[in-house]
Amino acid sequence: MQRQQTIAGPVQIAGRALHSGVHVNLRLLPLPPDSGIMFVRPDLESEPVKASPEIVRDTRRCMALGSETWRIQTVEHLMAALHGLGVDNVLIEVDGEEIPVVDGSALEFVKAIQRVGLVEQDCARRTRKLHQPVWVQSDTDPRSYLVALPALPGEGLRITYTFTSDHPATGNQVYQYIHTPENFVREIAPARTIAFEREIELLQKQGLGLGGTLDTVVLVGDDGYKNELRYADEIVRHKILDIMGDLYLVGPFEAQIIAVRSGHRLDLELANKLQTVLCHMD
Ligand SMILES: [Zn+2]
Repeated sequence: MQRQQTIAGPVQIAGRALHSGVHVNLRLLPLPPDSGIMFVRPDLESEPVKASPEIVRDTRRCMALGSETWRIQTVEHLMAALHGLGVDNVLIEVDGEEIPVVDGSALEFVKAIQRVGLVEQDCARRTRKLHQPVWVQSDTDPRSYLVALPALPGEGLRITYTFTSDHPATGNQVYQYIHTPENFVREIAPARTIAFEREIELLQKQGLGLGGTLDTVVLVGDDGYKNELRYADEIVRHKILDIMGDLYLVGPFEAQIIAVRSGHRLDLELANKLQTVLCHMD
């Protein structure tokens, strides 16, 4: 039996936000079994709210959670670290509208959590299973879809992503990830956010990507990469990182995910479907 886990003590991370560029403080605190991942804005004295697809407010470039009165955006890399390491119960406090971007990956969150450590709790993990295929497809780009199939016997979560691009530096990239905490830390957590130079001006006009620098994103210019890569296929690994984070809105589950050219919006649509079809194990 896998037990639920929380962090062994508080975790603090401060840094700039990717999209708004402002400085924010983040604190993670342990929670009792069956609490789930909770978000709170202490600066607004808001009540803690449990992460779920129902509280997503926006999927434009990042996953934003909230209600009428509060918002926390760019939660996906932190959520990926929690999913990847198997943290079931934690309170996420942030004193601004966005989680700090740190290095654009999940690595700094993973390291900070590993420094404090995890504790097993006196309760079984409520991993859910998929018994039927479900899928979603983009309205605007029919080549973009996301499929969830029942997990293979004896396997937990597997994610295969296909990234396609006519950009000569990136080309097409395919990656298959089989989830274990060790594989996550080694293969996925260090993969950073990618930005194409030709998209940046447009992004910044929309007030996005203002905290992006070469320390926080991998930049692809017309003549190639502007920084050194951590993996030759860093883009596709980061896409899997985003899926790990976005789909953790439904909590732990077992399935095979096949993703082609998908992004946060389709992740949310799939999370909504999964929420209705995932079943608790006996
Ligand atoms: Zn991302």
